[in-house]
Amino acid sequence: MNDCIFCKIAKKEIPSTIVFEDDNMMVFKDLNPVAPVHYLMIPKVHIQSIDHMDEEHATLIGTMLTKLNSIAGEAGIADDGYRVVTNIGAQGGQTVDHLHFHIIGGRNMQWPPG
Ligand code: AMP
Ligand code: ZN
Repeated sequence: MNDCIFCKIAKKEIPSTIVFEDDNMMVFKDLNPVAPVHYLMIPKVHIQSIDHMDEEHATLIGTMLTKLNSIAGEAGIADDGYRVVTNIGAQGGQTVDHLHFHIIGGRNMQWPPG
């Protein structure tokens, strides 16, 4: 999508601090971290949200999620525990309409979320 900020990050038209990248996905640091570790994991292809996931995305998103443990391990948050969040739509708190998984750790998390 032309005006999508995360598509632009995926194409490196907008700078980001990249933590991990391959042909299909990217992990970069959130601009406004809410915890000592706050990464965003995105597919390079534009998918609006996890609510827009089709069968054709199953391998892509499954493969993305298999990277979580090594990314969290590298960040040093795997042993203590961490949180993976994906917001969906306005009431779900989604502000960027390109599927992303927040990877958040390095402090105690609260539940329920606000
Ligand atoms: P959400 O509210 O779940 O859609 O999350 C969007 C996230 O993207 C927020 O945590 C923002 O801080 C983050 N964000 C927005 N623009 C950028 C950017 N250019 N680089 C890195 N993170 C960003
Ligand atoms: Zn996009």
